[in-house]
Amino acid sequence: MKILVTGGAGFIGSAVVRYIINNTKDYVINVDKLTYAGNLESISMISDSERYDFVQADICDKAALEQIFATHQPDAVMHLAAESHVDRSISGPAEFIETNIVGTYTLLEAARAYWSELNGPKKDIFRFHHISTDEVYGDLPHPDEWNNDEILPLFTEITPYAPSSPYSASKASSDHLVRAWQRTYGLPCIVTNCSNNYGPYHFPEKLIPLVILNALEGKSLPIYGKGDQIRDWLYVEDHARALYTVVIKGEIGETYNIGGHNEKKNLNVVLTICDLLDELVPKDKSYREQITYVADRPGHDRRYAIDAGKINHALGWKPLETFETGIRKTVQWYLDNHTWVDNVKSGAYKSWVEQNYGKRK
Ligand code: NAD
Repeated sequence: MKILVTGGAGFIGSAVVRYIINNTKDYVINVDKLTYAGNLESISMISDSERYDFVQADICDKAALEQIFATHQPDAVMHLAAESHVDRSISGPAEFIETNIVGTYTLLEAARAYWSELNGPKKDIFRFHHISTDEVYGDLPHPDEWNNDEILPLFTEITPYAPSSPYSASKASSDHLVRAWQRTYGLPCIVTNCSNNYGPYHFPEKLIPLVILNALEGKSLPIYGKGDQIRDWLYVEDHARALYTVVIKGEIGETYNIGGHNEKKNLNVVLTICDLLDELVPKDKSYREQITYVADRPGHDRRYAIDAGKINHALGWKPLETFETGIRKTVQWYLDNHTWVDNVKSGAYKSWVEQNYGKRK
Protein backbone atom coordinates (compact mmCIF):
# COMPACT_ATOMS: atom_id res chain seq x y z
CA MET A 1 0.00 0.00 0.00
CA LYS A 2 1.06 3.57 -0.66
CA ILE A 3 -0.47 5.78 2.01
CA LEU A 4 -0.68 9.54 1.64
CA VAL A 5 -0.51 10.95 5.19
CA THR A 6 -1.37 14.63 5.63
CA GLY A 7 0.07 16.36 8.71
CA GLY A 8 2.76 13.68 9.12
CA ALA A 9 5.16 16.16 10.73
CA GLY A 10 2.73 16.89 13.58
CA PHE A 11 2.35 15.14 16.92
CA ILE A 12 -0.02 12.30 15.93
CA GLY A 13 0.88 12.29 12.23
CA SER A 14 4.55 11.70 13.04
CA ALA A 15 3.57 8.75 15.28
CA VAL A 16 1.53 7.34 12.37
CA VAL A 17 4.46 7.75 9.95
CA ARG A 18 6.90 6.12 12.40
CA TYR A 19 4.43 3.29 13.03
CA ILE A 20 3.87 2.51 9.33
CA ILE A 21 7.56 2.62 8.36
CA ASN A 22 8.72 0.64 11.41
CA ASN A 23 5.95 -1.99 11.54
CA THR A 24 4.65 -2.58 8.01
CA LYS A 25 5.88 -2.89 4.41
CA ASP A 26 3.76 0.06 3.27
CA TYR A 27 4.94 3.30 1.69
CA VAL A 28 4.24 6.77 3.12
CA ILE A 29 3.96 10.06 1.26
CA ASN A 30 3.92 12.71 3.96
CA VAL A 31 2.22 15.94 2.85
CA ASP A 32 2.69 18.72 5.37
CA LYS A 33 2.80 22.52 5.18
CA LEU A 34 5.23 22.65 8.15
CA THR A 35 3.37 25.22 10.22
CA TYR A 36 4.72 26.05 13.69
CA ALA A 37 3.34 22.63 14.78
CA GLY A 38 5.06 20.58 12.08
CA ASN A 39 8.52 19.25 12.81
CA LEU A 40 10.44 16.89 10.51
CA GLU A 41 12.87 16.16 13.34
CA SER A 42 10.09 14.01 14.85
CA ILE A 43 10.45 11.63 11.89
CA SER A 44 14.18 12.03 11.24
CA MET A 45 14.78 8.39 12.27
CA ILE A 46 12.75 7.04 9.33
CA SER A 47 13.27 9.78 6.73
CA ASP A 48 16.00 7.83 4.90
CA SER A 49 13.69 4.86 4.34
CA GLU A 50 13.10 4.03 0.68
CA ARG A 51 9.42 3.68 1.61
CA TYR A 52 9.14 7.30 2.76
CA ASP A 53 8.74 10.53 0.84
CA PHE A 54 7.96 14.07 1.93
CA VAL A 55 6.22 16.88 0.05
CA GLN A 56 5.89 20.29 1.64
CA ALA A 57 2.43 21.49 0.58
CA ASP A 58 -0.68 23.21 1.88
CA ILE A 59 -3.85 21.10 1.78
CA CYS A 60 -5.70 24.23 0.63
CA ASP A 61 -3.58 24.27 -2.56
CA LYS A 62 -5.67 22.44 -5.17
CA ALA A 63 -2.98 22.38 -7.86
CA ALA A 64 -0.35 21.04 -5.48
CA LEU A 65 -2.68 18.27 -4.30
CA GLU A 66 -3.60 17.25 -7.86
CA GLN A 67 0.09 17.02 -8.67
CA ILE A 68 0.76 14.91 -5.55
CA PHE A 69 -2.04 12.43 -6.37
CA ALA A 70 -0.91 12.17 -10.00
CA THR A 71 2.75 11.64 -9.08
CA HIS A 72 2.39 9.27 -6.12
CA GLN A 73 -0.80 7.32 -7.01
CA PRO A 74 -1.73 6.52 -3.39
CA ASP A 75 -3.93 3.59 -2.30
CA ALA A 76 -5.19 5.42 0.78
CA VAL A 77 -5.27 8.86 2.38
CA MET A 78 -4.91 9.33 6.14
CA HIS A 79 -5.91 12.94 6.71
CA LEU A 80 -4.45 14.41 9.93
CA ALA A 81 -3.35 17.90 8.81
CA ALA A 82 -5.19 20.48 10.89
CA GLU A 83 -4.90 23.46 13.16
CA SER A 84 -5.32 21.68 16.49
CA HIS A 85 -4.92 23.98 19.49
CA VAL A 86 -8.20 25.13 21.10
CA ASP A 87 -6.70 28.27 22.69
CA ARG A 88 -5.32 29.42 19.32
CA SER A 89 -8.75 28.82 17.75
CA ILE A 90 -10.30 31.18 20.30
CA SER A 91 -7.78 33.98 19.71
CA GLY A 92 -7.64 33.49 15.90
CA PRO A 93 -10.28 31.24 14.33
CA ALA A 94 -9.60 32.15 10.66
CA GLU A 95 -6.79 29.62 10.13
CA PHE A 96 -8.96 26.89 11.63
CA ILE A 97 -11.72 27.61 9.13
CA GLU A 98 -9.20 27.71 6.30
CA THR A 99 -7.18 24.56 7.02
CA ASN A 100 -9.73 22.38 8.78
CA ILE A 101 -12.73 23.14 6.57
CA VAL A 102 -11.47 24.55 3.25
CA GLY A 103 -8.38 22.31 3.39
CA THR A 104 -10.45 19.17 3.98
CA TYR A 105 -12.81 20.17 1.15
CA THR A 106 -9.86 20.75 -1.20
CA LEU A 107 -8.31 17.40 -0.25
CA LEU A 108 -11.65 15.59 -0.70
CA GLU A 109 -12.05 17.06 -4.18
CA ALA A 110 -8.50 16.16 -5.19
CA ALA A 111 -9.02 12.62 -3.84
CA ARG A 112 -12.36 12.30 -5.63
CA ALA A 113 -10.92 13.44 -8.98
CA TYR A 114 -8.06 10.93 -8.63
CA TRP A 115 -10.25 8.04 -7.35
CA SER A 116 -12.90 8.49 -10.05
CA GLU A 117 -10.25 7.84 -12.73
CA LEU A 118 -9.01 4.62 -11.07
CA ASN A 119 -10.01 1.15 -12.30
CA GLY A 120 -10.02 -2.43 -11.00
CA PRO A 121 -8.34 -3.43 -7.71
CA LYS A 122 -6.66 -0.03 -7.30
CA LYS A 123 -10.11 1.58 -7.19
CA ASP A 124 -11.54 -1.12 -4.90
CA ILE A 125 -8.89 -0.76 -2.20
CA PHE A 126 -8.80 3.06 -2.13
CA ARG A 127 -9.77 4.60 1.24
CA PHE A 128 -10.04 8.18 2.51
CA HIS A 129 -9.55 8.06 6.28
CA HIS A 130 -10.42 11.30 8.05
CA ILE A 131 -8.90 11.68 11.53
CA SER A 132 -11.03 13.72 13.92
CA THR A 133 -11.60 14.41 17.58
CA ASP A 134 -14.14 13.56 20.29
CA GLU A 135 -14.48 17.33 20.86
CA VAL A 136 -17.06 17.41 18.02
CA TYR A 137 -19.55 15.86 20.47
CA GLY A 138 -19.39 18.78 22.91
CA ASP A 139 -19.22 17.75 26.55
CA LEU A 140 -20.70 15.12 28.86
CA PRO A 141 -22.21 15.28 32.35
CA HIS A 142 -19.54 15.60 35.05
CA PRO A 143 -19.46 13.21 38.06
CA ASP A 144 -19.42 16.17 40.48
CA GLU A 145 -22.86 17.19 39.15
CA TRP A 146 -24.32 13.71 38.58
CA ASN A 147 -26.90 13.01 41.23
CA ASN A 148 -28.56 9.79 40.11
CA ASP A 149 -27.72 6.08 40.15
CA GLU A 150 -27.25 5.70 36.42
CA ILE A 151 -23.80 5.12 34.95
CA LEU A 152 -22.25 8.30 33.54
CA PRO A 153 -22.72 8.44 29.76
CA LEU A 154 -19.88 8.11 27.23
CA PHE A 155 -19.51 9.38 23.65
CA THR A 156 -20.57 6.74 21.13
CA GLU A 157 -20.51 6.88 17.34
CA ILE A 158 -24.15 8.06 17.35
CA THR A 159 -23.77 10.86 19.90
CA PRO A 160 -25.14 14.05 18.25
CA TYR A 161 -22.57 16.69 17.31
CA ALA A 162 -22.49 19.78 19.59
CA PRO A 163 -19.06 21.43 19.26
CA SER A 164 -18.17 24.24 21.69
CA SER A 165 -15.00 25.90 20.36
CA PRO A 166 -13.96 27.24 16.96
CA TYR A 167 -11.53 24.29 16.79
CA SER A 168 -14.15 21.62 17.47
CA ALA A 169 -16.70 23.37 15.22
CA SER A 170 -14.19 23.38 12.36
CA LYS A 171 -13.43 19.68 12.90
CA ALA A 172 -17.17 18.91 13.07
CA SER A 173 -17.62 20.71 9.74
CA SER A 174 -14.85 18.66 8.19
CA ASP A 175 -16.41 15.41 9.47
CA HIS A 176 -19.72 16.39 7.83
CA LEU A 177 -17.97 17.16 4.54
CA VAL A 178 -16.28 13.74 4.57
CA ARG A 179 -19.59 11.96 5.25
CA ALA A 180 -21.29 13.95 2.48
CA TRP A 181 -18.55 13.05 -0.02
CA GLN A 182 -19.06 9.39 0.92
CA ARG A 183 -22.84 9.51 0.64
CA THR A 184 -23.14 11.77 -2.42
CA TYR A 185 -20.16 10.77 -4.53
CA GLY A 186 -19.42 7.30 -3.15
CA LEU A 187 -15.87 8.25 -2.17
CA PRO A 188 -14.83 5.36 0.15
CA CYS A 189 -14.43 7.26 3.41
CA ILE A 190 -13.97 6.27 7.06
CA VAL A 191 -14.01 8.71 10.01
CA THR A 192 -12.37 8.24 13.42
CA ASN A 193 -12.97 10.43 16.48
CA CYS A 194 -10.37 10.16 19.20
CA SER A 195 -9.93 11.44 22.74
CA ASN A 196 -6.98 13.52 24.00
CA ASN A 197 -3.58 12.14 23.05
CA TYR A 198 -0.30 12.44 24.95
CA GLY A 199 3.20 11.06 24.49
CA PRO A 200 6.59 11.84 22.90
CA TYR A 201 7.09 14.65 20.33
CA HIS A 202 4.08 16.65 21.60
CA PHE A 203 4.40 20.37 20.86
CA PRO A 204 4.97 22.14 24.21
CA GLU A 205 1.85 24.33 24.09
CA LYS A 206 -0.45 21.42 25.08
CA LEU A 207 -1.18 20.59 28.74
CA ILE A 208 1.08 17.59 29.40
CA PRO A 209 4.33 18.72 27.70
CA LEU A 210 3.74 22.29 28.94
CA VAL A 211 3.49 21.11 32.54
CA ILE A 212 6.55 18.82 32.29
CA LEU A 213 8.73 21.53 30.77
CA ASN A 214 7.48 24.40 32.93
CA ALA A 215 8.06 22.26 36.02
CA LEU A 216 11.65 21.51 35.01
CA GLU A 217 12.29 25.20 34.25
CA GLY A 218 10.94 26.27 37.66
CA LYS A 219 7.99 28.10 36.06
CA SER A 220 4.37 28.10 37.25
CA LEU A 221 2.07 25.24 36.25
CA PRO A 222 -1.14 26.97 35.11
CA ILE A 223 -4.44 25.16 35.74
CA TYR A 224 -7.61 26.42 34.08
CA GLY A 225 -10.40 27.11 36.65
CA LYS A 226 -10.36 24.47 39.40
CA GLY A 227 -8.72 21.87 37.16
CA ASP A 228 -11.75 19.62 37.44
CA GLN A 229 -12.31 19.23 33.66
CA ILE A 230 -12.13 15.55 32.71
CA ARG A 231 -10.34 14.21 29.64
CA ASP A 232 -9.97 10.60 28.47
CA TRP A 233 -6.24 10.23 27.77
CA LEU A 234 -4.77 7.96 25.07
CA TYR A 235 -1.07 7.29 24.51
CA VAL A 236 -0.23 8.53 21.00
CA GLU A 237 1.36 5.24 19.86
CA ASP A 238 -1.87 3.41 20.73
CA HIS A 239 -3.72 5.95 18.59
CA ALA A 240 -1.31 5.48 15.66
CA ARG A 241 -1.83 1.70 15.80
CA ALA A 242 -5.62 2.21 15.94
CA LEU A 243 -5.52 4.48 12.89
CA TYR A 244 -3.50 1.98 10.85
CA THR A 245 -5.94 -0.80 11.91
CA VAL A 246 -8.84 1.33 10.70
CA VAL A 247 -7.34 2.25 7.33
CA ILE A 248 -6.56 -1.44 6.65
CA LYS A 249 -9.58 -3.18 8.19
CA GLY A 250 -12.27 -0.51 8.72
CA GLU A 251 -15.61 -0.60 6.88
CA ILE A 252 -16.32 2.08 4.30
CA GLY A 253 -18.86 4.62 5.57
CA GLU A 254 -18.29 3.75 9.23
CA THR A 255 -17.18 5.94 12.14
CA TYR A 256 -14.99 4.52 14.92
CA ASN A 257 -14.47 6.20 18.28
CA ILE A 258 -10.99 5.71 19.77
CA GLY A 259 -10.21 6.23 23.44
CA GLY A 260 -8.03 5.04 26.26
CA HIS A 261 -10.55 4.41 29.09
CA ASN A 262 -8.46 6.83 31.14
CA GLU A 263 -10.77 9.54 32.48
CA LYS A 264 -8.70 11.97 34.57
CA LYS A 265 -9.31 15.43 35.98
CA ASN A 266 -6.75 17.92 34.61
CA LEU A 267 -5.60 18.67 38.15
CA ASN A 268 -4.90 14.97 38.77
CA VAL A 269 -2.88 14.79 35.55
CA VAL A 270 -0.74 17.70 36.74
CA LEU A 271 -0.34 16.18 40.22
CA THR A 272 0.75 12.87 38.68
CA ILE A 273 3.38 14.63 36.58
CA CYS A 274 4.64 16.53 39.65
CA ASP A 275 4.90 13.28 41.62
CA LEU A 276 6.83 11.56 38.82
CA LEU A 277 9.24 14.50 38.60
CA ASP A 278 9.64 14.45 42.41
CA GLU A 279 10.74 10.83 41.99
CA LEU A 280 12.89 11.18 38.85
CA VAL A 281 14.39 14.68 39.28
CA PRO A 282 13.98 15.50 42.99
CA LYS A 283 14.69 18.99 44.30
CA ASP A 284 14.30 20.61 47.73
CA LYS A 285 10.55 21.39 47.26
CA SER A 286 7.82 19.36 45.52
CA TYR A 287 6.95 20.41 41.96
CA ARG A 288 3.33 20.59 43.24
CA GLU A 289 4.22 23.95 44.79
CA GLN A 290 4.54 25.44 41.28
CA ILE A 291 0.82 24.91 40.54
CA THR A 292 -1.20 28.11 39.98
CA TYR A 293 -4.86 28.55 39.08
CA VAL A 294 -5.78 30.82 36.15
CA ALA A 295 -9.12 32.05 34.71
CA ASP A 296 -10.96 29.26 32.93
CA ARG A 297 -10.96 28.99 29.12
CA PRO A 298 -14.18 30.45 27.61
CA GLY A 299 -16.65 27.70 26.67
CA HIS A 300 -14.44 25.08 28.33
CA ASP A 301 -15.97 21.60 27.99
CA ARG A 302 -16.38 19.85 31.35
CA ARG A 303 -15.93 16.20 30.47
CA TYR A 304 -14.98 14.00 27.52
CA ALA A 305 -15.07 10.22 27.66
CA ILE A 306 -15.11 7.69 24.82
CA ASP A 307 -16.87 4.36 24.46
CA ALA A 308 -14.30 2.52 22.31
CA GLY A 309 -16.35 -0.70 22.22
CA LYS A 310 -17.00 -0.60 18.47
CA ILE A 311 -13.37 -0.51 17.33
CA ASN A 312 -12.53 -3.10 19.98
CA HIS A 313 -15.22 -5.58 18.90
CA ALA A 314 -15.21 -4.91 15.15
CA LEU A 315 -11.47 -4.50 14.52
CA GLY A 316 -9.82 -6.03 17.60
CA TRP A 317 -7.99 -2.85 18.67
CA LYS A 318 -7.44 -1.92 22.29
CA PRO A 319 -4.86 0.32 23.95
CA LEU A 320 -1.67 -1.27 25.26
CA GLU A 321 -0.72 1.53 27.67
CA THR A 322 -2.52 2.48 30.85
CA PHE A 323 -2.31 6.13 31.87
CA GLU A 324 0.21 5.19 34.56
CA THR A 325 2.60 3.44 32.13
CA GLY A 326 2.13 5.99 29.36
CA ILE A 327 2.65 9.09 31.48
CA ARG A 328 5.82 7.62 33.00
CA LYS A 329 7.20 6.93 29.50
CA THR A 330 6.23 10.45 28.42
CA VAL A 331 7.89 12.23 31.34
CA GLN A 332 11.03 10.12 30.84
CA TRP A 333 11.02 10.94 27.10
CA TYR A 334 11.01 14.69 27.79
CA LEU A 335 13.84 14.22 30.31
CA ASP A 336 15.87 12.33 27.69
CA ASN A 337 15.17 14.59 24.71
CA HIS A 338 16.29 18.10 25.62
CA THR A 339 17.59 18.73 22.12
CA TRP A 340 14.23 18.11 20.45
CA VAL A 341 12.54 20.37 22.99
CA ASP A 342 15.15 23.14 22.69
CA ASN A 343 14.99 23.02 18.89
CA VAL A 344 11.19 23.18 18.84
CA LYS A 345 11.00 25.99 21.36
CA SER A 346 13.68 28.10 19.68
CA GLY A 347 12.55 27.36 16.12
CA ALA A 348 16.03 25.94 15.48
CA TYR A 349 14.56 22.80 13.98
CA LYS A 350 13.80 24.77 10.83
CA SER A 351 17.50 25.17 10.15
CA TRP A 352 17.94 21.50 11.11
CA VAL A 353 15.43 20.69 8.35
CA GLU A 354 17.36 22.73 5.82
CA GLN A 355 20.65 21.06 6.77
CA ASN A 356 19.39 17.50 7.00
CA TYR A 357 16.47 17.40 4.68
CA GLY A 358 17.45 20.06 2.17
CA LYS A 359 20.31 17.78 1.06
CA ARG A 360 17.83 15.14 -0.14
CA LYS A 361 15.36 17.40 -1.90
P1 NAD B 1 -0.55 19.01 15.33
O1 NAD B 1 -0.99 20.42 15.47
O2 NAD B 1 0.52 18.50 16.23
O3 NAD B 1 -0.06 18.74 13.83
C1 NAD B 1 -0.76 19.22 12.72
C2 NAD B 1 0.11 19.02 11.48
O4 NAD B 1 -0.62 19.50 10.35
C3 NAD B 1 1.42 19.82 11.54
O5 NAD B 1 2.49 19.01 11.09
C4 NAD B 1 1.17 20.98 10.58
O6 NAD B 1 2.36 21.45 9.95
C5 NAD B 1 0.22 20.34 9.58
N1 NAD B 1 -0.63 21.34 8.90
C6 NAD B 1 -1.35 22.35 9.49
N2 NAD B 1 -1.98 23.06 8.53
C7 NAD B 1 -1.69 22.48 7.34
C8 NAD B 1 -2.07 22.75 5.99
N3 NAD B 1 -2.87 23.78 5.67
N4 NAD B 1 -1.58 21.94 5.01
C9 NAD B 1 -0.76 20.90 5.31
N5 NAD B 1 -0.35 20.63 6.56
C10 NAD B 1 -0.82 21.40 7.57
O7 NAD B 1 -1.88 18.13 15.46
P2 NAD B 1 -2.07 16.71 16.15
O8 NAD B 1 -2.27 16.88 17.59
O9 NAD B 1 -1.02 15.80 15.63
O10 NAD B 1 -3.48 16.30 15.53
C11 NAD B 1 -3.56 15.63 14.25
C12 NAD B 1 -5.01 15.38 13.91
O11 NAD B 1 -5.61 14.58 14.93
C13 NAD B 1 -5.84 16.67 13.83
O12 NAD B 1 -6.71 16.54 12.75
C14 NAD B 1 -6.60 16.71 15.14
O13 NAD B 1 -7.82 17.36 14.99
C15 NAD B 1 -6.78 15.23 15.44
N6 NAD B 1 -6.86 14.88 16.86
C16 NAD B 1 -5.95 15.33 17.77
C17 NAD B 1 -6.03 14.94 19.10
C18 NAD B 1 -5.00 15.38 20.12
O14 NAD B 1 -5.16 15.08 21.31
N7 NAD B 1 -3.91 16.03 19.73
C19 NAD B 1 -7.05 14.10 19.52
C20 NAD B 1 -7.99 13.65 18.56
C21 NAD B 1 -7.87 14.03 17.24
